[in-house]
Amino acid sequence: MTYVICEPCIDVKDHICAEVCPVECIHPMRHVDPNEYEEVEQLYIDPEECIDCHVCVPECPVEAIYVDDEVPEEWEHFIQINADYFQE
Ligand code: SF4
Ligand code: SF4
Repeated sequence: MTYVICEPCIDVKDHICAEVCPVECIHPMRHVDPNEYEEVEQLYIDPEECIDCHVCVPECPVEAIYVDDEVPEEWEHFIQINADYFQE
């Protein structure tokens, strides 16, 4: 299981979730890689590192974060989009 960031994050990207994640698995982190942070359209959750703690979910102002088996159908491709970010 993992958590997934979906479409509502696009162009919002306010970094709040990355600041509360206890294992720092939401990337790119603004303070670590500011150039990459500026370039991406959304943030992504590393499915290998996420510990399913749910802490990020209520912090998101646009309800972009879901556990993978509850991702709304229209955003299911974001499961792969999040995973692919970490393959680069
Ligand atoms: S569920 Fe927990 S570990 Fe996973 S991305 Fe959110 S805050 Fe980080
Ligand atoms: S809190 Fe929500 S909108 Fe903000 S960066 Fe995280 S997923 Fe995107």
